[in-house]
Amino acid sequence: MSCVFASKALLPDGWSDDVRFGIDGGRIQSVEVAAKPSSGDAIAGCVIPGICNAHSHAFQRALAGHTEQRSPTGRDSFWTWRERMYELAGLVDAVALAAIARQVYCEMLTSGYTSVAEFHYLHRDPRDPEKQDAMLEAIMQAATDSGIRLAYVPVLYERAGFDDPEPAEHQRNFAMSLDEFLAHRRRAVNYGSESVTIGIGAHSLRAVSRESLTEIARVAAENDAPMHLHIAEQYREVDQCMAAYGRRPVRWLLENLDVGERWSLVHATHIDFDETAALAGSGAVAVLCPSTEANLGDGLFPLHHFLEEGGRIAIGSDSHVSINPFEELRWLEYGQRLATQSRNVVSLRHSHVGSELFSRVLEGGAAASGRSMVGLAKGAPADLVVLSDDDPMLAGHGDASRLDALVFSGYPLPVERVMVNGDWRVVDAVHVDRARARAEYATALKKLGEAR
Ligand SMILES: [Zn+2]
Repeated sequence: MSCVFASKALLPDGWSDDVRFGIDGGRIQSVEVAAKPSSGDAIAGCVIPGICNAHSHAFQRALAGHTEQRSPTGRDSFWTWRERMYELAGLVDAVALAAIARQVYCEMLTSGYTSVAEFHYLHRDPRDPEKQDAMLEAIMQAATDSGIRLAYVPVLYERAGFDDPEPAEHQRNFAMSLDEFLAHRRRAVNYGSESVTIGIGAHSLRAVSRESLTEIARVAAENDAPMHLHIAEQYREVDQCMAAYGRRPVRWLLENLDVGERWSLVHATHIDFDETAALAGSGAVAVLCPSTEANLGDGLFPLHHFLEEGGRIAIGSDSHVSINPFEELRWLEYGQRLATQSRNVVSLRHSHVGSELFSRVLEGGAAASGRSMVGLAKGAPADLVVLSDDDPMLAGHGDASRLDALVFSGYPLPVERVMVNGDWRVVDAVHVDRARARAEYATALKKLGEAR
């Protein structure tokens, strides 16, 4: 058994001094407080649990910064961005996907995410569309190489819209029949391990028929697997759902499926007052992606009301315009401040907003990735983030405000070392495989640039 001795650690019941973690088999086997270090211990300053990135489309990392120029129509939106995303998706083959995902997963680890839910619908390699599972294998390889804990969420995408039973031409690489999809998921289960769990997902109400969605939900329940879907990200989707199903998306979902604690609803931006309470009451996790939702001009989730009703939340970096969990948390609160012209809005359990947000997304992220253990407890995965305790960001902060400093200071993150499943993946603030990840990412991006 190896041991990590931390002068400060954030345990499930709060900060403790002089904590010694015994680690074996990828798990925390013991947690001793007010301990003394022994020779051979890894000595750490301040240790916090790793955060789950509960919504990722790894390939979209290659689009960051490429969609910020006004198009000739002069009117850009989520829907014009989506055209650019489709263009990229049509070019990303398995080799490129492995390189892009490895790079973005290394970046996640370096900023304190230790797990990721990969919401994956890029099922076909455009170079070799008949080669089964090449894209799945690319994601698995990237997770293995980077060391991030993976919840693979295969996603069904079967049609272009509520009234269009076929996928559009640029959606061909996403599309599968329900039977193909379920067979794909069964094969994916063979990749499950201590650090890989397999979920299941539907792209959205518009992209999946109600019959298929019902079957996916049944498979999720049968396998006790996390179930993810995009919902109500844009007004247009709400209008289309009203026209097709006579209900708003979240309302329809809650009335027609047995939505509960295994469910993660991604975005859920446009929900009315009653839907907000009903969604919170269902126990589902609302996965919020503030930097992407801002970048795409989606709108603002009614966070305060949702939390007042007992709702659960997680965060995701989604399109990867930012890879920084603390920035996502900052913008969750800033959105509420801007909307209500007040401060310290999301503080229902804790008076300190940083502590409130961190604890909530720790719990919600574990649920979204299908894990029952939360935080640095005996029996939990050994996923540790070591902060540099002499970093100026943390200077002058005690236990009460340390997480506020992390969330509300936009300085470089003081992440010094990161362990996942008992292995150090980030050392001296650098991912152990950074050089290769960067080189192969640069090669992949150069090829994509030439192909555009
Ligand atoms: Zn998404």
